[in-house]
Amino acid sequence: MMVKRAAYDRLIFELSSPGRIAHSLPECDVPTSDPRELLPDKQLRSSPAELPEVSELDVVRHYTRLSQLNYGVDTHFYPLGSCTMKYNPKLNEDTARLAGFARLHPLVPEAAAQGALQLMHELGAMLGEIAGMDAVSLQPAAGAQGELAGVLMIRAYHASRGERRTKVLIPDSAHGTNPASTAIAGYEVVEVKSDADGGVDLLDLERHLADDVAAFMITVPNTLGNFEPRIMEITALCRSKGVQVYMDGANLNAILGITRPGDLGFDVCHFNLHKTFTTPHGGGGPGAGPVGVKAHLEPFLPVPVVTKKGERYTLDWKRRASIGKLQAFWGNFAMLVRAYTYIKTMGADGLRRVSEDAVLNANYVMKRLERDYDLGAPGPCMHECVLSARRQKKLGVNAMDVAKRLLDLGFYAPSTYFPMIVEEALMIEPTETESKETLDAFCDAMIQIAREAETESKIAADAPITTPVRRLDQTKAAREPDLRWRPRD
Ligand SMILES: *Cc1c(COP(=O)(O)O)cnc(C)c1O
Repeated sequence: MMVKRAAYDRLIFELSSPGRIAHSLPECDVPTSDPRELLPDKQLRSSPAELPEVSELDVVRHYTRLSQLNYGVDTHFYPLGSCTMKYNPKLNEDTARLAGFARLHPLVPEAAAQGALQLMHELGAMLGEIAGMDAVSLQPAAGAQGELAGVLMIRAYHASRGERRTKVLIPDSAHGTNPASTAIAGYEVVEVKSDADGGVDLLDLERHLADDVAAFMITVPNTLGNFEPRIMEITALCRSKGVQVYMDGANLNAILGITRPGDLGFDVCHFNLHKTFTTPHGGGGPGAGPVGVKAHLEPFLPVPVVTKKGERYTLDWKRRASIGKLQAFWGNFAMLVRAYTYIKTMGADGLRRVSEDAVLNANYVMKRLERDYDLGAPGPCMHECVLSARRQKKLGVNAMDVAKRLLDLGFYAPSTYFPMIVEEALMIEPTETESKETLDAFCDAMIQIAREAETESKIAADAPITTPVRRLDQTKAAREPDLRWRPRD
């Protein structure tokens, strides 16, 4: 099918018409000099730059149309599993833009930044309370950097006790950042198997727990959206062998106010403020991935640490055991302001409701879809559910086709092919901020796709047809993006 090229996918260069201009300036009435007198010959261009020649209205319409191509949680349902694409309250934007925060120079003397330091100090304490941790560093700019900070602190801890441990155990269901940040910290990554339900295979874990293991890193609830019922047993087992336990806190949206990583026996955990705590994300950042630790790891926190002396807040740089500085200045400060605003707005009861509603919504979606899709793991689930398109694949429609077809039906796609232990995985995280009507519309679309797969599998295989570009070669599009326009001869 030929898809008509809509006006919005033409480049500004293609709208160009010779001689058209977007400005009308009065004649210049001050003497100007000829650039040929100011610049050496070889720095002068020989032919004019090929710039688009368009009117002011062309420019306005073009960029307004482009801005409307943006796809985000403010425009569409965004069930991207593991990413917690919840609504970002606009109140957070107001506080982040307060001049006292937004215009503060990062090198301003402490005395002139007391409000900002107080906010950081209080946010660290609130996150510590939420996670049951004794100290928090706000510096990491993403979950992955929080992981790196956590693993580096674990390394420094073992070294301080004269112990040489070289391995970190990670379940095969883990997010890719877990092995990556662990390897960057200099550890050998050893994979631990999952059992049939996606939980930790305890026998396999026990087999691997030895004197040379520094840490066990696990996501709770796990990446299949299930709570690990034996988690206390697992953390106790690790600790009995001197192994530190790291909780990947990306799924904290499932347990706020219900349980705490610290109470489950974890030594370290990171927070994704851009997931759980509503700072906007997507397109690569900025994010914030604070990391919380139990008291025995506190000496190793990145510098500086915000401390309170009497009524004054100060940055403590003199920490001899610290793993050092991790991030420019004090982290992504504006994200911290947003998260602080969110936590203060919700309050303790509100945060608990967040998780209760997130879990309810995910179970609602899972229940409505369980007849038409296979489940990645038996329910009930926590804040997200993992389905499998293995049944559809036999009919010629794989998980990627389902995802692409959803775009045509007006929804963002769920995460696909993650976790890797589920065949044709579709990981759906509705979050607590969506209404029943939205969830129903999404489930209707998913059911429609399952029916189409049975009758006309070509529909999904050809999707999407309504987007500015159709199917791209996913690897090539990411590795060799074609971003340069060349004039046609
Ligand atoms: C998002 C995520 C991470 C990494 O967090 P970033 O902030 O994207 O670096 C790690 N683990 C899990 C399970 C995640 O969902």
